[in-house]
Order: sequence, then C-alpha cells, then structure tokens
Amino acid sequence: MKTAPRLFLEVDLAPGAAVAVSAEQANYLANVLRLAVGDPVLVFNGRDGEWRARISLIAKRTVTLTIDACVRPQGDGPDLHYLFAPLKHSRLDYMVQKATELGAARLRPVLTERTQSRRVNSERMRANAVEAAEQCGVLRVPAVDEPAEFADVLAAWPADRTLVFCDEAAAPGGPVSALAALARDRPLAVLVGPEGGFSPTERTRLLAHPAVLAISLGPRIMRADTAAVAALALVNACCGDWQ
Ligand code: SAH
Repeated sequence: MKTAPRLFLEVDLAPGAAVAVSAEQANYLANVLRLAVGDPVLVFNGRDGEWRARISLIAKRTVTLTIDACVRPQGDGPDLHYLFAPLKHSRLDYMVQKATELGAARLRPVLTERTQSRRVNSERMRANAVEAAEQCGVLRVPAVDEPAEFADVLAAWPADRTLVFCDEAAAPGGPVSALAALARDRPLAVLVGPEGGFSPTERTRLLAHPAVLAISLGPRIMRADTAAVAALALVNACCGDWQ
C-alpha cells in the first residue's frame, strides 16, 4: 500500500467537498505518482487539520478530490520564528525547507549590513515552504515575510519573544545550558547571519537588547545554511518539541 501523498490546499475542508487541485498538483498526482480514481490523498490547509480525501476524477489536466473525514485536528506547532539573512538561490531553497522541517512557524528574511542578496523571490520561498510542509507532516505552512531591514526588525522586537542570536564571534561553550534555561512555552526566534557575518554595530545592538540570547554554535565557523540546521536542531532539542 503506497503511503498517501500529502497536499496543501487553500480551500476550506469539509466532508463531501469536491476540490479541484492546482495544475501542478494534478500533474504530480496523475503523471508522477500515477494515481487512479479512488486512491487516497491526505490534505491540509493550515486551518482545519488534516483530512483524508480520495481522487474522484482524473481528466486531461485536472484532478478532483472528494474530501472524506478529518484524521488529525489542527495543531499549532512550536511558536518558533526563524530570522535569516537571505542567501543565494539553492542555499536559500535549502534553508527555507530545513527551517520548515524544523518547526518554524514564520520565516523572516532580514537585510543585514553584509547581506549579499537583497533581492528575494518570496513566491519561490513560499513554494519551498509548502513542499517541505507537505513532506514533513506539519499541519501549517510557515508564514513567509517580505524582506525587512534588520535594524527595523530589531527596533520593533516584541519583549515577550526571546531572540536566539547565533553569534559567530561568541566565546565557544554553553549553548545547551543557556537554551535549556528558557521556559518551554516561551515564544522563540532564531537569528542566523549572512555569509559575511554580523557587523560590529549589529552585534553591539543585539548584545545590548534585553530579549536577545546570544549563543555559540561551537568552535568552527559554519556556513549560514549549516548554522540554520544546527541552531534550529539545538532549539528543538533544548526547549522545543523534541522533548
Ligand atoms: N564570515 C563570518 C562567518 C559568518 S557564518 C566570519 O568569518 O566570522 C554565517 C552565520 O552563521 C553567522 O552570522 C552566524 O549567525 C552563524 N554561525 C556560523 N558559525 C557559527 C558559530 N560557530 N557560532 C554561532 N553562530 C555561527
């Protein structure tokens, strides 16, 4: 029995609803997976939980699903935001997918002083987030913000959300104990800089901010997309939902 594919839909989900999927989803179901009428598909929309559906029609370029029943109630997942300096294409694709798989609820590209690529394809990021969400079983697709100036984001930072600042200049040691000391249900965010790192001004402002927790990710300097996975894994393990 093949495992039923998971698809993200925008529409409301209710028993008996008939939903025509998008052209690329139709191609995926009919031509890539070569599914047939009657085959099961799991669908979610980020609001109504996960539902079992069945293929009810396969036409030339369209596939229609009939929604059956809810199999998983909507959950929130971790209140975890991921802030990052945008990277070049494939590394950014990778980073968006990994942040989604590691439970991020919101992806916030921030333009720091040394950010290389200030132009970001937000639609491409959203498509990567949807693809990762479908694959990893989360019930919501992370929100993807438009790029914002880092200084503005920090100036408006909410006091109740801890910003875990991955500081490549931090003295090695202690990330686990620092993160484990955070309350479990505390809203969190993780910040990873660009390949050029943070500027002295940015670092000074971050270290002076009361909501910021600076951590070292060890003695080696990782590429930003590696640091993203390392930092988000650490946060999930120490104070996230890997407990
Ligand atoms: N070019 C910079 C390094 C930038 S690495 C330099 O040589 O100093 C890209 C980002 O990954 C950094 O801004 C930081 O957020 C994160 N990072 C990489 N290695 C890290 C480490 N050992 N500790 C903390 N953060 C790290």
